[in-house]
Amino acid sequence: MKYSQTYKFVNPELPYGYGALEPFIDEKTMKIHHDRHLQTYVDNLNNTLEKYDCYHDWTLEELICCENRLPAEIQKAVHNNAGGVYNHIFYFDGMTGEDIDMRTDVSECIIVNFGTIEEFKSEMKKAALSVFGSGYAWLVLDSCCKLQIVTTANQDTVLTCKLAPILNIDVWEHAYYLKHYNKRVDYIDDWFNVINWDVVGERLRCACDLQG
Ligand code: MN
Repeated sequence: MKYSQTYKFVNPELPYGYGALEPFIDEKTMKIHHDRHLQTYVDNLNNTLEKYDCYHDWTLEELICCENRLPAEIQKAVHNNAGGVYNHIFYFDGMTGEDIDMRTDVSECIIVNFGTIEEFKSEMKKAALSVFGSGYAWLVLDSCCKLQIVTTANQDTVLTCKLAPILNIDVWEHAYYLKHYNKRVDYIDDWFNVINWDVVGERLRCACDLQG
């Protein structure tokens, strides 16, 4: 499993081709984003942990959630790079080039929490636009089984906030600059067309079981 992998970490292949999200997200962006940006986080995480054998059996999630038990000198590097690995895998897995309809249980859950699907999209868009600088907007399930939209900065995750991540959008400029230039809003509108609603549904059912 991608999130329970341990040292030495690997960059999992995309679950689709680099060009699969065209015309919404372009092939070149996907290739650079996956092969260079994510790869760099993987390499930096491995380099950081190389000499710290006693943490080589910690999973990606454990490194993120128990960061304060790590030696002080590597906490920041693990925070940024384990976060970068986790957030990117989660983002890439949440997209697809296939046209997937939302299952009824997913749409009902969104409607219960946001009123309408359109209102959900509008709130997600507002959150993604509100990130100052680099970060992510997330759809999460809280401990009361309520859906919320939150944002994080840089490569922070939502895992340390006891929130179960359901969907995220990367709003670092490298996620859209080649195609959408400085227009983050156009990228967000395009991103709504490539959400993998099957994956969202699986994550939601799994999180409901855990939280419930
Ligand atoms: Mn990114």
